[in-house]
Amino acid sequence: MIEQNLKDVTNIIEKACNYSNRDFKDITLIAVSKTKPVEMLQKAYKFGVRDFGENKVQEILEKYPYFSEDVRFHMIGHLQRNKVKYIIDKVALIHSVDSFRLAEEINKEAEKHQLIMPVLIQVNIAEEDTKYGLSLKEVIPEIKNISKLSNIQIKGLMTVPPFVENPEDNRKYFKRIKQLSVDITNENIDNVCMAILSMGMTGDYGVAIEEGATMVRVGTGIFGERDYLNNK
Ligand SMILES: *Cc1c(COP(=O)(O)O)cnc(C)c1O
Repeated sequence: MIEQNLKDVTNIIEKACNYSNRDFKDITLIAVSKTKPVEMLQKAYKFGVRDFGENKVQEILEKYPYFSEDVRFHMIGHLQRNKVKYIIDKVALIHSVDSFRLAEEINKEAEKHQLIMPVLIQVNIAEEDTKYGLSLKEVIPEIKNISKLSNIQIKGLMTVPPFVENPEDNRKYFKRIKQLSVDITNENIDNVCMAILSMGMTGDYGVAIEEGATMVRVGTGIFGERDYLNNK
């Protein structure tokens, strides 16, 4: 199942790239493996996956020891400040920075480990009450503050748009994030680049790529439906 799913997802990514004149090599597929057992990740690894997305610190800690250095774990879920210390040296990218206080904590722990942590700023693009992330108007001022932290490097933006039946309904949000990234680039803030746009999930990653996504986070489309009953 995973092998065929990966082929299908790769085909859709390729199509979206062709359609929008983008290079397939510029897109990173993150296999979102939250709630899924290690054996499924190992299968995906066998078929070429090296980037895994997880939303819980505990799950990253459980799965991390099973993989070698060539695997990158991405923290894509809400991160509590008191848990930063557990994953600071285990994740390749934190997608979910949504406050200066969280950034400060990441910076502190990164300094202890003498590393520079790449992060994305999470934007609540549809300003939904139920979602984490900065509102549009908060983003630039907050990035200016976070950019002064020397053990953090801001590499781009991440968003989780509304759940929709028709992916076209989210096109406007992807466009808005892309435009925001251009606006931020034009601000020329030291220590900030906008190389990464992490947007697009199983329901809408094709549209996200057409609008400029460089990382797509696909869970269900690769591993199948999640069973939350088996999970905390
Ligand atoms: C679960 C999750 C995904 C993957 O969702 P699917 O619809 O299963 O592809 C992507 N991004 C975030 C932040 C998630 O929590």
